[in-house]
Amino acid sequence: MAYTVPKLTDYSSAALEKNAADCIAACEAETAEVRSDADLKAFRDRWMARKNGILTQINDVWLKGAPKEAKRETGQTVNQLKVRIAELVEAAHVSGRDSDSVTERVDLSLPGVRRPLGAEHPVIKTMHEIVGVFQKLGYSVAEGPVVETDYYNFEALNFPPNHPARDTQDTLFIARQQSKPQRDRLLLRTHTSPVQIRTMEKMPPPIRIVIPGTVHRNDPPDASHSPMFHQIEGLAVDTNITFGDLKGTLDHAMKALFGSDVKTHFRPSFFPFTEPSAELYVTCFICGGRGQRGPDAPCRPCKQTGWIEVLGCGMVDPNVFEFVKDNGYDPKKVSGFAFGMGVDRLALLKYGVDDLQLFFQGDVRFLEQFG
Ligand SMILES: [Zn+2]
Repeated sequence: MAYTVPKLTDYSSAALEKNAADCIAACEAETAEVRSDADLKAFRDRWMARKNGILTQINDVWLKGAPKEAKRETGQTVNQLKVRIAELVEAAHVSGRDSDSVTERVDLSLPGVRRPLGAEHPVIKTMHEIVGVFQKLGYSVAEGPVVETDYYNFEALNFPPNHPARDTQDTLFIARQQSKPQRDRLLLRTHTSPVQIRTMEKMPPPIRIVIPGTVHRNDPPDASHSPMFHQIEGLAVDTNITFGDLKGTLDHAMKALFGSDVKTHFRPSFFPFTEPSAELYVTCFICGGRGQRGPDAPCRPCKQTGWIEVLGCGMVDPNVFEFVKDNGYDPKKVSGFAFGMGVDRLALLKYGVDDLQLFFQGDVRFLEQFG
């Protein structure tokens, strides 16, 4: 028998309690009869509808019919009853459906699914920092292919035909290229410098670019070598660019990267594509240039010299400009400087990591430390 709201004649505590209990029992019994979504809607309407729902009827019939002295207690009973019925209706669901307990009864007290936030990889983060310093100086970012031709990777950068860097001990060549002329043979670029030529072919001077990217060499992986690593290369070409501009730019960049109190120091070096060439050293940012981290703690990263080599640089060799002369790079009219650095090594130093392989093994426990 479907529940109907009885008129009360007895307003004693016991009678109120019994009528409330009967009502709750009837509601509970009805929840078990809900077999479809339509049933569920009808059940909810029957009990909760503002107009003529059972709770509304109880409110009207019981409360309004109560004698003055029983009004307060009747009110309390009706309120408690409303709360309980609302809970039952809220919890009601279509019985027999498999997903009932999962989808229809949401337990708000259960902890949610945690999605851990990602973070930049320490190498990429270092790369972004370096690129950011040069962007503030007005440099734009250029990129190029990782699979390159011998022409862009070596020839146009003034590597003579028999230069040892082409040896397979250093360079990873794509297989089955022997039938092609040497300049067309494909390889994995060994530095980001080919993008200098590619950019100069597309854009006339003046030019100021930084080139971040991955490069490959035929090195077995160990604590300080990897067959894949990251470089950032820079190139500035204009009229009247001098070695003074090179020194000033790099000194500023090193102070922006490692702190305003680092000192820079250039030592003569050799690269096929720059002349003159130099290696840039900065005062060790770990020991502050003292070579010692404490009374009995020699500084390993700088080998106790107080200096760390950070990059190679130099004035662009006029022979390189000859390859892009037709695009406005007449070596008699323009000059420029270039520099290149290994990002991974700087990230090792910066974060005090002693094994390069840790950066590339993808172990989340290691990488999480930089999040
Ligand atoms: Zn040091």
